[in-house]
Amino acid sequence: MNLRENVPLAPLTTLGIGGPARYFGQARTTTDLVEMITWARNHRLPFFLLGGGSNLVFDDTGFPGLVIALAMKGIEYRQNNQNRDVEVTAAAGELWDDFVAEAVARNLAGIECLSGIPGLVGAAPIQNIGAYGQEVSQTITEVEILNLETMQVESWDNARCAFAYRDSVFKGAWRDRAVVLSVRFNLRRNGKATVTYPDLTKRLPKDASVAKARAAVLIVRGEKSMLADPTDPNARSCGSFFTNPILDPEAYAAFQTRCREPHPAYAQDDGRVKLSAAWLIDHSGFKKGLVRGGVGLSQKHCLALINRGSGSSAEVIALKNEIQDGVLQRFGVRLEPEPLILAGREKP
Ligand SMILES: Cc1cc2nc3c(=O)[nH]c(=O)nc-3n(C[C@H](O)[C@H](O)[C@H](O)COP(=O)(O)OP(=O)(O)OC[C@H]3O[C@@H](n4cnc5c(N)ncnc54)[C@H](O)[C@@H]3O)c2cc1C
Repeated sequence: MNLRENVPLAPLTTLGIGGPARYFGQARTTTDLVEMITWARNHRLPFFLLGGGSNLVFDDTGFPGLVIALAMKGIEYRQNNQNRDVEVTAAAGELWDDFVAEAVARNLAGIECLSGIPGLVGAAPIQNIGAYGQEVSQTITEVEILNLETMQVESWDNARCAFAYRDSVFKGAWRDRAVVLSVRFNLRRNGKATVTYPDLTKRLPKDASVAKARAAVLIVRGEKSMLADPTDPNARSCGSFFTNPILDPEAYAAFQTRCREPHPAYAQDDGRVKLSAAWLIDHSGFKKGLVRGGVGLSQKHCLALINRGSGSSAEVIALKNEIQDGVLQRFGVRLEPEPLILAGREKP
């Protein structure tokens, strides 16, 4: 087991914020992972599982225990004889977008609209990543996990993961109790893309190929600085900082008494209504390009909090709180952050 000390975390995140990890190790196998977790437990230190660092805010003071970077590799393709689809199993440490690119190159459909999302395969089920009309839960059939209580490897089917909008059991009851080791997908061989989202229907015919859909998604994401591009200052972010709020009918009625103007609202199957966090932020006076010291809002998208270069975790939390308070005051709706926030001084 190879552990290093005082490893800076900022360069390992897309936001570029965070002090040093007291200890840092890379798990290339499940055995490595088990060894590192056991080591941390024996030393009574907390441990943290790091993927691509694109959905978290570390503290400026760093992490006081062991940060374990998940680096298990490998992708297997298997013909499903029942329906002629292809079962693909990808290890947690594979880069998500390389995995999508390879599936698209093989003309496999089901994840093409998730092109360009930063991070690793293992984190994809954690918040059920989604974009442009697809969610990863639509193609996941199984998730292999390490149960951190029994230290046994288990295979969980899709239902057990309790996927929902930007949510899963791994963010709820099983938070900090499981490590995703690999993910199995069922991908369609027909190569026809999902073209339902307005940004795509504008550009593509309904029967577009997955390759065309991937290309279009990458263009749209690039225009919004929603690609992991280290040369783009507007992409020094965690992507969307808040999830779109979903209100029950009573809360939506209360919202409508405060908001008389036309606003985006999407009826859900269960009777609730999803609002646009970006619209609420913008209409509460937080505009694209807003600056607060070393942090601010992207010039392309008011939903992305960015590090302007010298930003600190305290500034990120202060801006997060300011936006939450502003939206709550204006519209009576509390926005929930999407990234995991490990930084202190967060308002409860
Ligand atoms: C520019 C940009 C655009 C983005 N666009 C989108 C988008 O369109 N849609 C979307 O859904 N998200 C988007 N995101 C958010 C982010 O890319 C995804 O949530 C991604 O899945 C995070 O992966 P990661 O490997 O970087 O996870 P990390 O940030 O490293 O970790 C996130 C959380 O998951 C946990 N975790 C990571 N791997 C594992 C594992 N194997 N087992 C257990 N826990 C684990 C970590 O402990 C942490 O709690 C965007 C981010 C950026 C920076």
